[in-house]
Amino acid sequence: MRTHPLVVVGGGVIGLLTARELAMAGHEVRLFEQGVLGREASWAAGGILSPLHPWRYPDAVTRLAQASIAAYPTLCQDLAQATGVDPEWMPSGLMRLGDDEAPEAKRWAGRFGVALEPWDLAEVCPGHGIDGPGLWMPAIAQVRSPRLMRAASMAVRGLKVMVHEQAVVEGFTRDRERVTGLVVNGETVAASRVIVCAGAWSRPLLERYGLPLPVRPMKGQMLVIQTRPGFVKPMILKGTRYLVPRRDGAVLVGSTMENTGFTKETTEEAREDLLKAAHAILPDLAAYPVTHQWAGLRPSSPEGIPYIGEHPEIRGLFVNTGHFRNGIVLAPASARLAADLMLGQDSVLDPAPYGLDRPSGGGSGGAVLI
Ligand SMILES: Cc1cc2nc3c(=O)[nH]c(=O)nc-3n(C[C@H](O)[C@H](O)[C@H](O)COP(=O)(O)OP(=O)(O)OC[C@H]3O[C@@H](n4cnc5c(N)ncnc54)[C@H](O)[C@@H]3O)c2cc1C
Repeated sequence: MRTHPLVVVGGGVIGLLTARELAMAGHEVRLFEQGVLGREASWAAGGILSPLHPWRYPDAVTRLAQASIAAYPTLCQDLAQATGVDPEWMPSGLMRLGDDEAPEAKRWAGRFGVALEPWDLAEVCPGHGIDGPGLWMPAIAQVRSPRLMRAASMAVRGLKVMVHEQAVVEGFTRDRERVTGLVVNGETVAASRVIVCAGAWSRPLLERYGLPLPVRPMKGQMLVIQTRPGFVKPMILKGTRYLVPRRDGAVLVGSTMENTGFTKETTEEAREDLLKAAHAILPDLAAYPVTHQWAGLRPSSPEGIPYIGEHPEIRGLFVNTGHFRNGIVLAPASARLAADLMLGQDSVLDPAPYGLDRPSGGGSGGAVLI
């Protein structure tokens, strides 16, 4: 008897890396994406491979982050080798201006073995007039998100994942309490197991199936200032604003947090606000032009803890979503955990904190902003 494929819904970083894990384990995989692969939140992201202010997060987020951070160098190397597209993993380090949360940060760093130092910031980033106390996290790395998306998209195709773009998943079919397939652009497609990795759009898809996860769109706008290569080396964080310098001299400025539904338009107000923050961090950025502004929709969730697991009542229907501000950094370990659960394998990470029926999982409560 022919077995039906495993199906992934959504072609962002979470869906792509989940599909990759399943395909690498030898399974037939189909991926359905309503638009084009890797063009939503995962494309828009700054690519910082750490939560901002990581000590503010619950352990459930830190554990996924630590496992992913350890996996990233090899992942990027493998993707570059398989596709020729380098995601530009780079341990540029992150400076946090101000040491107001130093005691919390130090306690957290000690617990998780993370390098973190109180530092005279002028020594880390000379020549820009930065001074005063701060925290220097030299091991924090970054990737270039659009490149990661391109490499991951090419990699899954290379692994023979059958990719369908412009394919809107409208719902699921089931036989009693077991999923049997899904409805895509009005057609029924058979599946042995399905995983929803639909980012900010996950709730509308799942709530009809008794799973009203509190995952909502949270718009983030960013802009880029084009400087010269080497102009600034470390990533710099001040309050809620940050700079991410790329190899080619592009400096990303992030990011806003806007609860405005599914709209992705950019605004003049955000442009001015981000530019002002960038100039306050590094005044000499004012000599360079803003070349681009964009927005993406983060899949927000309470405390930023993603939902990874099986539907409590519909067997074979899985979810991997709600990564909020940290989907890039959390993706490799989330994908691994999700694939282990789908394949009925033991996982290195305890899945309990990410379960879909955890206390906040069934409610309609709003997201806690981090
Ligand atoms: C401005 C900004 C900066 C960020 N910076 C960082 C950062 O520095 N570090 C970090 O770790 N994270 C960052 N993030 C967060 C990160 O981008 C997200 O957490 C992550 O991209 C979520 O990945 P995803 O695959 O779940 O969602 P997405 O990338 O949005 O992918 C979901 C996909 O599902 C598809 N889809 C939805 N519904 C359906 C359907 N019914 N049928 C078929 N397809 C469907 C969508 O079209 C989309 O392509 C940032 C986000 C923003 C907006």
